[in-house]
Amino acid sequence: MARVYPRAWFGDGISATADARLSITSAAVLYGLSVYTVLPVTVSGESVPMGFRLAEHYRRLVNSARIIGIDTWEPAWSEERFAAAVAAVVRANEVAEDVFVRVSVHVDAEMPGTRSRGISTCLSMFVSTAEPILPLEGARLKTSVWRRIPDFAIPSRAKVNGAYVNSVLAKQDAIDSGYDDCIFLDAAGHVCELSAANIFLVRGGELVTPSTAQDLLEGINRSTVLAIARSMGVPAHEREVDLTELYIADEVFACGTSTYIAPVVEVDARVVNGASVGPLTARLRQRYLAVLRGEDAEFSSFVTPLG
Ligand code: PMP
Repeated sequence: MARVYPRAWFGDGISATADARLSITSAAVLYGLSVYTVLPVTVSGESVPMGFRLAEHYRRLVNSARIIGIDTWEPAWSEERFAAAVAAVVRANEVAEDVFVRVSVHVDAEMPGTRSRGISTCLSMFVSTAEPILPLEGARLKTSVWRRIPDFAIPSRAKVNGAYVNSVLAKQDAIDSGYDDCIFLDAAGHVCELSAANIFLVRGGELVTPSTAQDLLEGINRSTVLAIARSMGVPAHEREVDLTELYIADEVFACGTSTYIAPVVEVDARVVNGASVGPLTARLRQRYLAVLRGEDAEFSSFVTPLG
């Protein structure tokens, strides 16, 4: 289990994590009406902590709020204020190891009814140890009996807390069946993503991943993998993916903040790549881990020192 650090950001400043509480009458609690993101902060040796792709995390949070119609938060915040708050919560906890920072915009209005506009919001950030949610030596996945919520019901592109009940159903179903995680299909049967990570397959030396119009979260690590692939000259395609393409893929991997790049060794009882880490997955993962820590000159703009 991840360990949560004692200091949090709540509202307009730092407080004890134990004191950062929402009312049982708030829309956040009643309807799951919060949007969030989780970003990695790495610490290498004596260097200052590095925040990963802060601008993209801020933008996705803004976009999630816009999609849901939460409109009182964005006017009060900016990318600069967001970065300063991340730095403040990391400093307040004297972080000296790799951590995840979870940032949520909560609708804390009490009993507002089922609506989103013109009602009170507050921001929270807390820090936890960076514990991967999938086995990094190889994950086993099972196609879920639960389908991904479509864009016309609750958009997966918006990272809205209440929608994660869909992920809970599918992940628990996978665990109950002895697997590590699920594969979500959309209503038409195309592959979307895992419960909290995006998915890639490799065939004939080329990367394939479901397109962003496929009922999935626009993962920041997904876009990082695509950028690294471009830089390495690896062809990459974003398109509809059939489930059976995973069954015959040379390699499959998942990516996301809390999975890094996790090789997939089994899909629905079909072994992938002899149950070992594929060569392209290994190359991408090595480069990705360097990018994440700010050790790759080409992608040095992806990290922000939080000193
Ligand atoms: N899909 C879902 C449903 C997720 O919850 C996550 C984790 N945030 C991802 C994909 C991966 O997104 P990211 O790379 O931004 O962490």
